[in-house]
Amino acid sequence: MIKKNDVVSLSYSLKNSDGIELGKAGAEEAMNYLHGAGNIVRGLEEAIENLKVGDKKDVIVPPEKGYGDVDPKLLLKVDRSNFPKDMDIKLGMQFSSEMGGKDNVFTVEGVDGDQVNVNGNHPLAGQTLHFNIEITGIRDATEEELSHGHVHDGSHHH
Ligand code: ZN
Repeated sequence: MIKKNDVVSLSYSLKNSDGIELGKAGAEEAMNYLHGAGNIVRGLEEAIENLKVGDKKDVIVPPEKGYGDVDPKLLLKVDRSNFPKDMDIKLGMQFSSEMGGKDNVFTVEGVDGDQVNVNGNHPLAGQTLHFNIEITGIRDATEEELSHGHVHDGSHHH
């Protein structure tokens, strides 16, 4: 049964409330995470507690246990002059900017004359997340993984 400090592997599909697929990982490309370390959204982590290998589950995660509500303070109009002159500003373009002492990723959502509309919310903010998961593996975390608070596998080592 899955408990804190287990490394959990799972395959999943993720849809929004309209049934649009937002992401998926099949059994061969299962996602690994350190359980109890806040590596994944809280609502999903809570639902996985005590599951075992082979268990399948539908999990509905509201925004408050997912990526939060849309913060209107992060919907900004920025003057074109704040961007480099030669930059071709396109819809969907992302850039990071420091805000309140931490880096925040902003996405360009519109250009209106000299005004660029940017959104610093997580792309899934405000969304209810519909996960369908299957637990494909459980192992103990290594000491190093526990001290880093995340899983080391494949290319991820630091
Ligand atoms: Zn690490």
